Amino acid sequence: MGRYDGRVAVVTGAARGIGFGIATRLAEEGASVAIVDLDESAASDAAGRLPGSVRHIGVGCDVSDGASVDAAIGRVVEDLGGIHVLVNNAGITRDNLLFKMTEDDWDLVMGVHLKGAFLMTKAAQKHFVEQRYGKILNLSSISAMGNRGQANYSAAKMGIQGFTRTLGLELSPYGINTNAIAPGFIATEMTDATAARLKMDVEEFRKLNADANPVKRVGFPEDIAAAAAFLCSDEASYITGQTLYVDGGGRL
Ligand code: NAP
Repeated sequence: MGRYDGRVAVVTGAARGIGFGIATRLAEEGASVAIVDLDESAASDAAGRLPGSVRHIGVGCDVSDGASVDAAIGRVVEDLGGIHVLVNNAGITRDNLLFKMTEDDWDLVMGVHLKGAFLMTKAAQKHFVEQRYGKILNLSSISAMGNRGQANYSAAKMGIQGFTRTLGLELSPYGINTNAIAPGFIATEMTDATAARLKMDVEEFRKLNADANPVKRVGFPEDIAAAAAFLCSDEASYITGQTLYVDGGGRL
């Protein structure tokens, strides 16, 4: 008997990285998972690699576009029979020092992280409210505390924490829990891209971050997935509006 038997979970940006790690863990624990990502074929391919005996699907969707989000949630409910868990994980970076950061760099990052979480949550919450049950998990970051070269990303990730607290207040009376995870350095294509931007070898960059971390290693998608599987489970039903830092103690 898994904690997610009979549950349908939607994880955005889950064709790879942390999202795929969360989707895998929820599927291992019995959930039927919809992988929502920009590229439908990458999403379907990832859904095909999920474990478990229940149905998983891949859905192409741009979380920053309202019509695309409404269509995606509609498809999940029709194909998988409902929605119980929403993980707002899709993310991008457009790093630069403020004086070099363009308006597009700002808008794109706000669009995916903040507007994306808003649109997905708004589309899902009407199902959650009707059934008086729902779990929302948002991805923040240690960069919310401020990080050089990430004025856009850091503002979005702190915004996610305010969004999470507010939903905790508004939605909890309807049986809906909303929490956030703020990961530290997690080895994914996102951090590999940062290494490339800094003209560093990926392994050298990971070692640098591991050495600077109190637990002396970098994080992996599985570290975030374990915390996500707890926060979206019924065991965490008295926890809402919170942001859990999963960062090996190495916050900025
Ligand atoms: P990743 O490997 O870059 O994966 C992000 C995924 O999101 C990609 O599959 C990407 O698709 C998808 N995506 C981007 N824009 C989208 C959109 N508009 N609509 C739908 N999907 C979209 O990133 P990650 O490292 O797993 O990060 C996942 C989340 O954790 C992000 O919110 C990130 O900010 C947060 N986080 C990561 C770290 C870290 O160290 N890795 C630390 C703190 C927080 P494409 O490939 O098609 O672009």
